[in-house]
Amino acid sequence: MIPSPSQQKIISNIDASALSSHWNDWRWQIRNCIHTDKSFESLLEVELADEERSAFQKTVAEFPMSITPYYLSLIDTNDIQNDPIFKQSFPSPCELTMNRYDMSDPLHEDHDSPAACITHRYPDRVLFLVSNTCAMYCRHCTRKRRVGDRDSIPSKEALNEGIDYIRKHTEIRDVLLSGGDPFLLPDEMLDDLLSQLSAIDHIEVIRIGTRTPIVLPQRITPQLVDMLKKHHPLWINTHFNHPRELTSSACRALKLLADSGIPLGNQTVLLAGVNDCPRIMKRLVQKLVANRVRPYYLYQCDLSRGLSHFRTPVGKGIEIMESLIGHTSGFCVPTYVIDAPGGGGKIPVMPNYLISWSTNKVVLRNYEGVITTYKEPDAYEPTFCDRNCETCDKQLALSGADETKTIGIEKLLCDWDKTISLVPENNARLERRNS
Ligand SMILES: *Cc1c(COP(=O)(O)O)cnc(C)c1O
Repeated sequence: MIPSPSQQKIISNIDASALSSHWNDWRWQIRNCIHTDKSFESLLEVELADEERSAFQKTVAEFPMSITPYYLSLIDTNDIQNDPIFKQSFPSPCELTMNRYDMSDPLHEDHDSPAACITHRYPDRVLFLVSNTCAMYCRHCTRKRRVGDRDSIPSKEALNEGIDYIRKHTEIRDVLLSGGDPFLLPDEMLDDLLSQLSAIDHIEVIRIGTRTPIVLPQRITPQLVDMLKKHHPLWINTHFNHPRELTSSACRALKLLADSGIPLGNQTVLLAGVNDCPRIMKRLVQKLVANRVRPYYLYQCDLSRGLSHFRTPVGKGIEIMESLIGHTSGFCVPTYVIDAPGGGGKIPVMPNYLISWSTNKVVLRNYEGVITTYKEPDAYEPTFCDRNCETCDKQLALSGADETKTIGIEKLLCDWDKTISLVPENNARLERRNS
């Protein structure tokens, strides 16, 4: 990509002898990440007020800053305080505000970690943190507790411990590589990790979560995608939060990935002042789909420390979902989730469409507010299911069904499990019974 005139200016401000080809080199971008207020000011030719500078110093002492020259170049200096790129990348003194309910690890990722680099929360899939570093430090990072940790690559032993855990646990069929950003690892190391994981029989799919297409699109090179496509089925989730992030450079990166047959998803975090607007969100999801990226999750902002100024009420997310569902293509619509504090995982929330119910009819409303009914069958013969698929006449006969252990509400709904209620731990009434 040929750098724009304003990008040219940044390049020569960084290094008078640098060529525009340097701009397209991701390692040059990383070497020249912006960490100080001084270089921020001089590269963008803006001036911070004295109190902004002292607030900056206090904030970065706790939560460091790193911005790639590329992402910096997207900041609109004419309206910097309202700029979504600026807000996601430049430290705000609000990050130091502590709330009573803030937590350093709200999702209990460290508690649910049975092996180094692994979070095993769901039955059939794990999160594998293979990199401790990012090019740009998102101000809204849920793993803010770790940002700026010096050791940029987990040790070989730690990664091997993670792989061993995955190898030993045959119930795992999906491995999600995250970090940090896995794409900050060198191609050879990623190739090696992916080869080791794909060689495990029970691994059916590998996913990578990366923000490089947004903050460091130069990382998506033809060499990288040639390596990645050896490891299909491989899925990638990106992290676009605002339509302005879909620049020609970002779109080029997405095209390379999509052309190599990688299904692309996107995870957006709902952020006050950045994308808490139905119109912005609709534009974002439509642009994503136009670039072959399927909106996957819209996250309610976590309760991690330092994020309070980014949080919105849940109602804002529901309002946004209301403005998307039915109003635009179904595959533009992400699932809005709250990642449960304490490690309960992602919980979907959305507007209610089921208004009422009788024994043979349901009353529904659509996105236009039209209230309608669906007549249910007068007779329906339920099949009693004892989970003995060999004798079932539905011809679904699945061999080696491994989901015999039912979990949660599914347990209450099924025929083959006698459980009639789920009771929280330390229930006083039941403790009285036992005593
Ligand atoms: C989000 C997440 C996953 C993947 O969840 P999906 O709903 O399958 O995308 C897996 N493990 C952890 C710990 C997660 O936070």
